[in-house]
Amino acid sequence: MNSKKIRLALAGNPNSGKTTLFNALTGTNQVVGNWPGVTVEQKLGSYRKNHNIQIVDLPGIYSLSPYTAEEIITRDYLVREKPEVIINIVDASNIERNLYLTTQLLELGLPVVIALNMMDVVNARGDIIDVDSLQRQLGCQVVEISALKETNLEGLIAASIKAAEENITPKAIEFPGRIERALQEMSELISSEREGGVEDRLRRYTTLKLLEGDSVIIDNLVLGETQARAEAVISRLEKELDDDRESIIISARYDYVTELTARIRRKAEGKESFSAKVDKFVTNKVLGLPIFALVMAVVYGVSVSTVGQWVTDFTNDVFVEEWIKTPVADFLESAGVSEALVGLICDGIIGGVGAILGFMPQMMVLFLFLAILEDCGYMARIAFLLDLLFRRFGMSGKSFIPMLVGTGCGVPGIMAARTIENPRDRRLTIMSVTFMPCGAKLPLIAMITGALFDNNGYIAFSAYALGIVSVIVTGIILKQFTAFAGAPTPFVIELPDYHFPSWKNVRQSILMKLESYAKKVVTIYIFVSILVWFMASFGFGDEGFGMIESLEDSLCRDVGTLFAWIFTPCGFDSWQAVVATLLGLAAKEDIVGVLGVLSSIGDGEKALEMVEAGENLGDLVAIFGGSKLVGYSFMAFNLLCAPCFAAMATIVAELDSKWEAAFAIGYECLFAYVVSLIIYQLGSWYLGGPFTMWTGTAVALLLVMTGLLIRGIRRA
Ligand code: GDP
Ligand code: MG
Repeated sequence: MNSKKIRLALAGNPNSGKTTLFNALTGTNQVVGNWPGVTVEQKLGSYRKNHNIQIVDLPGIYSLSPYTAEEIITRDYLVREKPEVIINIVDASNIERNLYLTTQLLELGLPVVIALNMMDVVNARGDIIDVDSLQRQLGCQVVEISALKETNLEGLIAASIKAAEENITPKAIEFPGRIERALQEMSELISSEREGGVEDRLRRYTTLKLLEGDSVIIDNLVLGETQARAEAVISRLEKELDDDRESIIISARYDYVTELTARIRRKAEGKESFSAKVDKFVTNKVLGLPIFALVMAVVYGVSVSTVGQWVTDFTNDVFVEEWIKTPVADFLESAGVSEALVGLICDGIIGGVGAILGFMPQMMVLFLFLAILEDCGYMARIAFLLDLLFRRFGMSGKSFIPMLVGTGCGVPGIMAARTIENPRDRRLTIMSVTFMPCGAKLPLIAMITGALFDNNGYIAFSAYALGIVSVIVTGIILKQFTAFAGAPTPFVIELPDYHFPSWKNVRQSILMKLESYAKKVVTIYIFVSILVWFMASFGFGDEGFGMIESLEDSLCRDVGTLFAWIFTPCGFDSWQAVVATLLGLAAKEDIVGVLGVLSSIGDGEKALEMVEAGENLGDLVAIFGGSKLVGYSFMAFNLLCAPCFAAMATIVAELDSKWEAAFAIGYECLFAYVVSLIIYQLGSWYLGGPFTMWTGTAVALLLVMTGLLIRGIRRA
């Protein structure tokens, strides 16, 4: 076997199956990272049956124009690194759309092998693709595969090795006569490789880019006085064809692809595909959103209340309490360990971590459903549908997926914003993802609802509504500033055929989300549990510093009291509420735990149980002065303010600079403060309270926000 290293670069549209193919080819021999300088995923690996074959998974793109980070990365990689072969992965079930990119890949002067993926879908539909003819037309090898079923992957690799050895570049597609003549004229104006100019293999690509007006390429060409002559040729062509330079090439490519597709593909007659039938309902303008709401209601119902609840109860009552906590406590006591240490271990660490652990099964069920919906193709439809809605607020439907993922956990939610091409939209989305109540905020919602609102279901609903409204308001307001302005990029998303979700993908998606959650629990929560236990058990009592009997003497109280003034205008200035808010910045689950401990009910788990059982929660209610309004304002602030450490770290990692991250987190806190101030001040005024300076401030802030909203909506 050839011992020379061969590099194969996988290029294709998003959703064409690149990742699936990459994983199938590389097995576990892969390194995942980011492309230098940008947060776009980079994957490298070697073929699992021959380590001399290296594989690069390039970002999914629809074209080689320089509009998105993904497009630039892909073409820079191909042009500069010159992999031995480009494997262009084409979704055969969507062949027409996919071949558009193919026409551009053929122009890069590198050997190309086309992997015609999803052939299982094509065959199931009964469509026929004339592979021989396609091969002849494009001048490169075409291999039918199914990445998911791992069919004919060896054939693909064999074809790629052959292409690398022969090193034959495909012939680029031919444009209509007028365009070709213009290209010819322009090509002569570009200096050749021998003269220190453009490499021969990139001549056609460069000429085409010059014709299209691709500024990135043009800036690198030293054209000198020939620039004017090139522009003259282009102007003439624009007049002849009555179109602008970029559109001329785009439509010529589309025409070519349409014609080619007609020649090589025969669709099965008569029967409408299953996906098309389902889509009639699911992407229907009238029915689509209600169906979606129903699906989500079922998903949340099952994962949070029924199935999720059973598993959680089991984890809490049996697993943590009976199997771990009680035996450990008995053991430690019998071993004569001091009471303080038993308290630290059992109440501080096991109790604290147990409360979170109890929450994981619910999240797992939720993640499972979301992963299935995503993998079977439903989420793509929802993004498509919501694009119509989001567009009105200057955002793209793509922002929706991060938000949805964010309802599980903010960390993967923020990371899911990577799929958004436009940097301004991405920034905006990253900033607002965590307004959605994530899994860790659910216990807080449950606690407030139970303690103060008689378990009224509308309160939980209002928490989600508050999240969505905050996202929309943020979008409308911030879009008026240049850092966020501009229309969202046109929405192009493949609507893949529905298919049975693959267990591999589902598992991977769940594991990824659980991993970030578990990491957070193990690192931050153990630390915070110990800290809370310490601050609640120690303090300056009558005999100086030491273990104290009453929480009134605890360090917690001192810290809470120190910062209480900040939250007085928002209504919740009891030291317990303030401490819970501060520690909530480490992990939102802490809020319930801290409130539980500080209201001497016990740990968070116990507090939630008592809330559910409707037991006397006087101490808990007293933290909010017995006021529903204060409790709600507290909840609103904690739902909207800066997320937990883990999510904040993710925001820092995903944004381009520390400044952007500081702005994002600062904005979230400010927004939360303003909202809870307005809620509390206007609420208490409405309930008959006096009109104070703070009421005036709240009214003024409300007016400013309304003004910005109206201005934003008018502009859009
Ligand atoms: P990427 O965006 O190009 O990385 O695409 P993915 O690898 O994530 O695949 C997108 C979807 O297509 C996933 O749900 C895959 O399970 C599915 N998929 C990939 N290859 C095949 C295939 O050969 N047949 C079928 N039926 N589905 C596939
Ligand atoms: Mg992928």
